[in-house]
Amino acid sequence: MPAHDNPPHKGEAQGLQLGIDLGGTKIEGQVLDPYGRAQAIKRIPTPREDYGGTLAALVGLVSSLEAEVGPVAGIGVAMPGSIAPASGRVQNANSTWLNGRPFGKDLARAVGRPVMLANDADCFALSEAYDGAGQGAESVFGVILGTGCGGGLVVEGALVRGPRAIAGEWGHNPLPWPSEDEYPGTRCWCGRRGCMETWVSGPALARDHHQETGQMMTGEEIARAAQAGDAAARASLDRHAERLARGLAMVVNILDPEVIVLGGGLSRLSHLYSELPDLMRPHVFAEDPWIEVRPPRWGDASGARGAARLVATGVQEDSGQEAVGKDAQQQGAQRQDAQR
Ligand SMILES: [Zn+2]
Repeated sequence: MPAHDNPPHKGEAQGLQLGIDLGGTKIEGQVLDPYGRAQAIKRIPTPREDYGGTLAALVGLVSSLEAEVGPVAGIGVAMPGSIAPASGRVQNANSTWLNGRPFGKDLARAVGRPVMLANDADCFALSEAYDGAGQGAESVFGVILGTGCGGGLVVEGALVRGPRAIAGEWGHNPLPWPSEDEYPGTRCWCGRRGCMETWVSGPALARDHHQETGQMMTGEEIARAAQAGDAAARASLDRHAERLARGLAMVVNILDPEVIVLGGGLSRLSHLYSELPDLMRPHVFAEDPWIEVRPPRWGDASGARGAARLVATGVQEDSGQEAVGKDAQQQGAQRQDAQR
């Protein structure tokens, strides 16, 4: 990790901030000081299929990190899916044992204080926009390409969440401009067919390569084979990059972000950064269709770092109130306004 001493942005909360990345297999906690320097880092396995166990693991992680660095000023959590503002319950989590649970309320009660929560790809985007690969850009679209496919949007330093808390969720839109053999596509865990996630995630790349060649290989193995001159592996990477370009071009046509930052396991495929801008060109509806695609600065740490930034950038509005509940109330009120 590079040395880091960015001063806190103007008007932001001071003190130590604890960010937690709740993943499907592991939970990572990082305590950041106001300069973004990690004061403590701890990883534990996720109690899979166990809601009570997940809450207990998070409580244990908070106490052990505070035992190491002292009390923190706030806690943020990057989670799969999001808290649906209308019900306060989890939606869209591929860690499906969280879905339908009032996770924000239960977690705040378990740790005895307010907790800020956001989707993991939102936290990734916030971290990279704040002091990472997208720092200084007016708008950043952060993409996670791992076991799933997520996205988050940060505009002028602020996370865009939306009244349904789904802003940036491009992974469950269908692959645009499909060829005949790409339509209607495979069934996704979400119940739809042909979702971007079923074409561009790590498992999707592996499945496509297997279908074409009969070989079971991970994304990184396919990339290594392509580098060693394996033409079939190269062809699989080419199909994957071209589909990813179509999906991202659709996002650009709607949001026109200044910069795209990739994260997740497949962000280590270095050919994506040189090839994607040119592959996107034919589909971007602009006189200048070129857009910069950058690798992440913080990599896997961006989930936890972005969760900590959630506290830094959100604490002014929520000033120690029941953060989750208030957020939901505000968004509910906005929705009612919109209906009037
Ligand atoms: Zn889907």
